[in-house]
Amino acid sequence: MAPEQDDDTLACVVSGDGRLRGGASLKFFHGPMGAGKSTLALQLDHNHARQGRVGLVLTRLDRAGPGWISSRIGIGRAAEEITDATDLRALVRGRWADGGRVDYIIADEVHFYTEAHIEQLAELVDVSDVDVYAFGLATDFRTRMFPAARRLFELCDELVRLQVEVLCWCGRPGLLNARVEDGVVAREGAQFVVGDTDEAPAEVRYQVLCRRHHRTGDLGPAANLAGQLRLV
Ligand SMILES: [Zn+2]
Repeated sequence: MAPEQDDDTLACVVSGDGRLRGGASLKFFHGPMGAGKSTLALQLDHNHARQGRVGLVLTRLDRAGPGWISSRIGIGRAAEEITDATDLRALVRGRWADGGRVDYIIADEVHFYTEAHIEQLAELVDVSDVDVYAFGLATDFRTRMFPAARRLFELCDELVRLQVEVLCWCGRPGLLNARVEDGVVAREGAQFVVGDTDEAPAEVRYQVLCRRHHRTGDLGPAANLAGQLRLV
């Protein structure tokens, strides 16, 4: 190896840009409601922790309430609740300043994050060698991508569509999350509906549908029964 390459190697290590490390990556696991995203997030955290790695577990607006990741199969754990104002790099640096380690980050409900949060996560991978596992929905009830999900599609090292089968009432794979307001599939409205407001319809719920039935708005024969996957 030529001497100048050795110099480059040293500069690379000193600058901390990670070019010589094989390691950290940004992975985005996406799928509709009920695909097991939070379950997988918790399992992944468990597996890494068992290997002695230390993780930072983040969430935003989980249906169980602030500071908690809940899985539909009944398991859960405490997590750091983030807001628009949270700088994830500062959060990690804070842990380091306290003498802690952060080997990996689990980011659940990541569709509720901002695009800036996704940039911060990418920077943590590239500069600080922290593995990031992000979990969330790709598209909203109008079938449009969430801004954070789009940024993850653009930036992530690995994109994983979760394979746990979620079915529409007709038996086809359910890939889209419909917002059902007073029994009707909503076509417009705010991307996020958080909490109760005076303008809110009497009943808002979400139902996974195939593309065909999302388009026609057909909720199936059980449409009048209490919806599965109720979020509010
Ligand atoms: Zn269908």
